[in-house]
Amino acid sequence: MKKRILLLAGGQSGEHEVSLMSARSVLAALPRDQFDVTPVVISKQGRWLPPTGTQKALETGEAPGGGDLVLHRVASAEGYDAVFPLLHGPMGEDGTIQGLLTLAGIPFVGSGVLGSAVSMDKVMTKQVLASAGIAQVEWRLALRREWRSQPEVVTARATELGFPLFVKPANLGSSVGISKVSHTDDLQAALDLAFSLDRRVILEAMTSHKPREVEVGILGNDAPVASPVGELSFDSEFYDYETKYTEGRAQMHIPARMPRDMSERVREMALQAFRALDCAGLARVDFFYVEETGELFLNEVNTMPGFTTTSMYPKLFEAAGIGYSELVTRLVTLALEER
Ligand code: ADP
Ligand code: MG
Ligand code: MG
Repeated sequence: MKKRILLLAGGQSGEHEVSLMSARSVLAALPRDQFDVTPVVISKQGRWLPPTGTQKALETGEAPGGGDLVLHRVASAEGYDAVFPLLHGPMGEDGTIQGLLTLAGIPFVGSGVLGSAVSMDKVMTKQVLASAGIAQVEWRLALRREWRSQPEVVTARATELGFPLFVKPANLGSSVGISKVSHTDDLQAALDLAFSLDRRVILEAMTSHKPREVEVGILGNDAPVASPVGELSFDSEFYDYETKYTEGRAQMHIPARMPRDMSERVREMALQAFRALDCAGLARVDFFYVEETGELFLNEVNTMPGFTTTSMYPKLFEAAGIGYSELVTRLVTLALEER
């Protein structure tokens, strides 16, 4: 019997478009002799679009429409064997959809409520990983209320880290709302921007030199495996939105150009983080490697990484001999697996 799969894409976050791109690739790759796939695009306002609207959104990248309570819509997920929530960022990758599907009793691809929520929040991730003894850069938390009522306290907290530093919304992705701040004068604008997007903001010390950015894919549930390590190189100041999504701005290197013992450490740390955060199915774990000092810092864990055929996560597994179509099939199988 073919498995009925509901593929959710789009969603309410700043990564809506990225999700649509990933969904087109996954839709084309899920083997039709095994799966009956129904895509549903969620508009930026949170509306689960009907088939015609979904088709149009996948073709044009435009998903209009508000209203429509999401809770009424979970009924439309009934009758599916599994859901593939190919959504990035808040209201998709952060445990919210995962909670809805858990309540509805429908298996889904990827991490559950706990792993999704903790991994989405850069501060919670840092706290959990610190308790697992995983090396990370120095950081501080700031709340919007503090920034409004005691800006000098927040500024002082940031200054403790030294310049340049990074200011980031705690719960976002694709570098949306992230600033690299090299001077006190630019701190206010960076904090205003981050707080316009999130109640919680993380301030991070920069690595001692511009880091090499290396990433590793994890696949599995309770017996996860790590892919080879990949690396991204680019000329811009940091791996910002433009660099990520403008053709030709960043180069992917698989395997990463680093000593073998170092890449083994990356893979081991990534597996350790995946377990510590109670992730499931898949994750892409990103690191900073400071070649000059040999330091390795875990940066973040993405529980629903970019998933086009040219994205890092699928490319990493392709290098391990698992092609795109096989990879998505395995993810659905993992969703259906008893744990
Ligand atoms: P996102 O979840 O949006 O991808 P990241 O935390 O990965 O956010 O930050 C995006 C990019 O910003 C990183 O890939 C890196 O280029 C740069 N960056 C973020 N934090 C630091 C840091 N502490 N030191 C050096 N570079 C950083
Ligand atoms: Mg991220
Ligand atoms: Mg990142």
